[in-house]
Amino acid sequence: MKSNFFQKLTRGLGKTRHRLVSEIDLLVENKKGLQEEIWEKLEELLITADIGIPLTRSLLEDLRRWAKKNESEPDQLKGELKRSLIEALDGAGGDLVESPNPPTVVLVLGVNGTGKTTTIAKISRLLSTRGKSVILCAADTFRDAAIEQLGEWGKRIGLEVVAQDRGADPAAVAYDALARAKAKRTDYLFIDTAGRLHTKQNLMEELKKVKRVLGKEHPGAPHETLLVLDASIGQNNIVQARTFNEELDITGIVITKFDGTAKGGAVFPLFRELSIPIKYIGVGEETDDLERFYPEDFVEALFEEE
Ligand code: GDP
Repeated sequence: MKSNFFQKLTRGLGKTRHRLVSEIDLLVENKKGLQEEIWEKLEELLITADIGIPLTRSLLEDLRRWAKKNESEPDQLKGELKRSLIEALDGAGGDLVESPNPPTVVLVLGVNGTGKTTTIAKISRLLSTRGKSVILCAADTFRDAAIEQLGEWGKRIGLEVVAQDRGADPAAVAYDALARAKAKRTDYLFIDTAGRLHTKQNLMEELKKVKRVLGKEHPGAPHETLLVLDASIGQNNIVQARTFNEELDITGIVITKFDGTAKGGAVFPLFRELSIPIKYIGVGEETDDLERFYPEDFVEALFEEE
């Protein structure tokens, strides 16, 4: 039986799949031989699924080479494409690191609205169910709502939240939270941060300061710098990821909102461009709507018949 999460992911990728896989089926139905027309249409389909032009070109080159060598038939094309897509995500998965010297500090970054706070709640809950202790830190001191929201999640999942008033220095809140997590020998400390892009340079400097303070107080911290991205903006995520990575050295990516996007294919160029592991994906608003990213499962879900 397929897991509940896999079913959600399959459903979530429905729109992307519809654009890609159902169309490929139509394309090759009753066709003999891989004619030029099929290749052209396939290129168009891959590009509309947001797989990006450079990767589409290189996938097609490989597929054409394969077709020549194997005298293949159109109905084998899907299987071969699936194999190539899994290969394109080789090394893209990975678990959250765990520092031998607790707490493992996880700094969570991302533009407002991408799902940072929800993702922190989801990962924390997952870790709690594995018996790990977690403290949350509300270092987005720019918005009252952000502090309240993290507080609400903390109550819902039963975790301590370290917060100060709106306008406090985020680095000072992070410092307090770290001291608290050290004193309690907590396994993980998650730090929620601001994500207002209209003051980009100030934001980056503020986040760098948080990083510096953490590193000074606790060697190796932050052990993870996670960037949260929203799947529904497709390839625009590449620009966001590059911007954050240049300034703050991202160690892992979480992609949210896979439920209901037609741009699920953007995962492929994102990994190709940045080579940063994708640690988790989100498929809904509830705490259990999060799972590790496994490239094979992802591609499988993309091709799964519902
Ligand atoms: P933040 O501003 O980055 O902290 O974003 P929030 O965590 O407040 O999330 C913004 C909105 O996205 C909220 O309405 C969340 O419920 C929603 N959200 C977060 N993750 C997902 C997801 O995987 N799927 C869906 N459909 N909504 C999500």
